[in-house]
Amino acid sequence: MEELYFKIFEALPRQGPGDEEATKKAFQKLSDLPQCPEILDVGCGNGSQTLVLAKLSQGNITALDNHGPFIDILKHKARHARLEEKIQCIVGDMAAMNFSGESFDVIWSEGAAYNIGFENALKSWNALLKHKGYLVVSELVWFKKDVPQEISEYFAREYPDMHYYEDVYAMVRSTGYELVDYFPLPGVSWWTEYYTPAEKKLTEMRQEYQSNTDAQALFDAFQLEINMYRKYSEDYGYGFYIMRKG
Ligand code: SAH
Repeated sequence: MEELYFKIFEALPRQGPGDEEATKKAFQKLSDLPQCPEILDVGCGNGSQTLVLAKLSQGNITALDNHGPFIDILKHKARHARLEEKIQCIVGDMAAMNFSGESFDVIWSEGAAYNIGFENALKSWNALLKHKGYLVVSELVWFKKDVPQEISEYFAREYPDMHYYEDVYAMVRSTGYELVDYFPLPGVSWWTEYYTPAEKKLTEMRQEYQSNTDAQALFDAFQLEINMYRKYSEDYGYGFYIMRKG
């Protein structure tokens, strides 16, 4: 089933909600960067945001993901955009990154930190940042304190560690950062490059795997996730947290 899961995700323009505009908006909040910043993009997927960062900054970007085929796609796109010299690609585990301490001006992670626990990511990546370095993370959060039972039960199963967006502010401070800014990712950034192509891919794969009940269950689960967002996008979404090491 893991293979099938990757077959879907490798076909998508990106592997989570987001778009160029949101990456740019967050990057513009980093007001005090050196001329050529060292940037680490953690859980880069096929590198949509990596390429945006490479265009926006004059620095070097290290892009890390534990799924080799995503990194291969990123390498291909980087060559095509003539940005390969600015991007160092690494297949590796975000839970065991062995970079030297204080080596990055910016750590960036869109929709990926949850893989090792959001708070744990904030804590463990702190040591890799230079003094006053920035950490930019997008993370699934509740926008409201009181939400309908159906969606509350869904995420109690799917992502029990999900926080109310303002409750994250205290976590940011307690893990050694100041909060520079926060903004919610707009709904359109979930659809254009993520859920709309995902729905199309799911329809194709349903045909291809018609008689495979395990595969159909996997497609159902992803479709349910999309349906939930369609219905409850006022209640939850992605928050972009722009933080600075204190
Ligand atoms: N930032 C990309 C991808 C987000 S999806 C985007 O917004 O499009 C999450 C990514 O984290 C996937 O590419 C997945 O392969 C990667 N990932 C999951 N666990 C990981 C781990 N332990 N170490 C490194 N990458 C991981």
